[in-house]
Amino acid sequence: MESFSYPMKFCSTCGAAITLKVPPGDNRPRAVCDACGAIHYDNPKVVVGCLVVADTSVLLCRRGIDPRSGFWTLPAGYLEKGETTEQGAVRETWEEARARVDIDALYTIFDLPYISQIYMFYRSKLRDGRFSAGEETVEVRVFAERDIPWSELAFPVVERTLQHYFHDREIDEFPMHVESIEKRPIPRRP
Ligand code: ZN
Repeated sequence: MESFSYPMKFCSTCGAAITLKVPPGDNRPRAVCDACGAIHYDNPKVVVGCLVVADTSVLLCRRGIDPRSGFWTLPAGYLEKGETTEQGAVRETWEEARARVDIDALYTIFDLPYISQIYMFYRSKLRDGRFSAGEETVEVRVFAERDIPWSELAFPVVERTLQHYFHDREIDEFPMHVESIEKRPIPRRP
């Protein structure tokens, strides 16, 4: 199994030093505080977003930040505490694309064990035809299938979700897709 580094050096509860050790009853190393005994678990993060459909086109954002600055993505970001995955997807779509959406259904789920992330995309409709670039975005556009910039997509999860959508649209059925994505070389900008 791949080993993960813990960014935490000091206990967020009491400020004392952190040691990696296997707590009693556990089976893998955790960040454990030498002083107060707090166990700081480091679990996978959930990324939520929307596949936004506008008529026969889909909405993409060109990223203004690293990683993958300049490449096209679906609006998505980390789920926050206290919100549902659907609320998070709607919020991220507003923050990155200034787009209001009506959710249809959860559409794709991706396990990315090599970076300990889970992606969840909701299929949704653009509510009023309006969108613009949010904070971390340099450009927002809607693309017809023939115009999708396949070689300039930011992440495999974006590519897979779009592939599923255009395939499913042909048959007018949109089942949920659950996949694992393995690590692979990141293509360079052409
Ligand atoms: Zn402590």
